[in-house]
Amino acid sequence: MNPRPTGPILGACGAVVLLLASAPVGAREALVGHIDARFDLHRDVALQIWELAELGYQEFESSALLQAQLGTAGFAVENGVAGMPTAFVAEAGSGGPVIALLAEFDALPGITQTAAPVREEIPGKAGGQACGHHLFGTASLAAAAALRDWLQATGTPGRIRVYGTPAEEGGSGKAYLVRAGLFDDVDAVLSWHPGDVNRAELGSSLANRSARFNFSGVSAHASTAPEKARSALDGVEAFNFMMNLMREHLPQETRVHYVITAGGEAPNVVPDHAQAYYYVRHPDAQVLLQIWQRVEAAARGAAAGTGTTVDWEIMHGSYNLLPNSVIAERMQANLESLGGIRYSAAEEVFAGQIFPTLDTPEFALGSETAIQPINRERGGGSTDVGDVSWNVPTAELSTATWVPGTPAHSWQAIAAGGTTIGIKGLQLAAKALALTAADFFEQPELLQEARAAFDAARGAGFEYTPLIGDREPPLDYRRAP
Ligand SMILES: [Zn+2]
Repeated sequence: MNPRPTGPILGACGAVVLLLASAPVGAREALVGHIDARFDLHRDVALQIWELAELGYQEFESSALLQAQLGTAGFAVENGVAGMPTAFVAEAGSGGPVIALLAEFDALPGITQTAAPVREEIPGKAGGQACGHHLFGTASLAAAAALRDWLQATGTPGRIRVYGTPAEEGGSGKAYLVRAGLFDDVDAVLSWHPGDVNRAELGSSLANRSARFNFSGVSAHASTAPEKARSALDGVEAFNFMMNLMREHLPQETRVHYVITAGGEAPNVVPDHAQAYYYVRHPDAQVLLQIWQRVEAAARGAAAGTGTTVDWEIMHGSYNLLPNSVIAERMQANLESLGGIRYSAAEEVFAGQIFPTLDTPEFALGSETAIQPINRERGGGSTDVGDVSWNVPTAELSTATWVPGTPAHSWQAIAAGGTTIGIKGLQLAAKALALTAADFFEQPELLQEARAAFDAARGAGFEYTPLIGDREPPLDYRRAP
């Protein structure tokens, strides 16, 4: 371990020489300077992943790109962890606490857009970065590289780890990493998400479980021999009907949504296969598990009544977030010290064109320059960061990578994420993550406070039961059924 430098190093001629490896600059200058100096690199990496827009568990090039960058930055990288070819764990530093950053990179299917401020689809492209995960992964890389060099230069004990987490969108990649025990020795997880606002997040999310329900029947001519047939589509329709009746009798904050992914090909052939794909969400994972039993009972009942059979495959499952107040408050303080985002003249023009296309925007143009108060409200979405947060003290922050008022999963999010507006949000997130991690490395007592807050929030006797159950990662879930 190197001793911490205490003052400027004088050169032979008496002039002050700042040696990069042991310069007596504060953590703040070192980390922020490191990230600022690599703006172009971060832009290039993020925009490559934006362009690739690879779907869940198929993010081979995006993952390889982040791994290569982490390797160059001095990290030891292990890939293909927890049965997921595109997952990885990268680590640098030695001894001390382990602070982890998460890196997402998957895109969403069915939505594409150029980096233009008007609706402009890209025909033939499979998906787009409508949730900004290209920025997510790259900001974590940027923060981690800065922290690695700072830990080394100052001889601070501690390890910085980056988890490459595939398939956040409906694949629950992080739940498999958690289930495999890969977070067991982590002291704190600092996460973030692209957004339209700068602030730390103390709000929770909805626990979420999904499944594909496969109904099987008997095919026959729909007009000459209907009595010999049992329609799998009838099974799906009966199931959907029961589920829609059930809504009235579910706890108030439950969310149920479904699509029919198979329902036959021709009206004159009674379908022997039909499938419905369901998401069920609730703020509390334990309540969700109880609701789920009723969902399975409805599927069985629908099959019994239509003379079909049913089985189902759990596709993903994510806990609600358990945000850590100690970490979130450090994030908020660091965001406030950094300040918001300033648009260039060209970015202002771009934002001015996007803004009128937004439906009832919650934030006004110009709000990107400010840091909003810490958010304590629960969102309507779900994330597999939830599973991490019930196992390790975890908090998230948001930065305005999108024009204020832009919702996630929109063409406007893809568009702004493909410009320097997105990259500026990435840079702000990277700095806030790096400064917060440095706070915890420099003041290990903060980690104890975070742990105490975690224990209190989680409650005594909590046992983590993954909502994914014992299934293996659904590596082909983004391929057509
Ligand atoms: Zn997302």
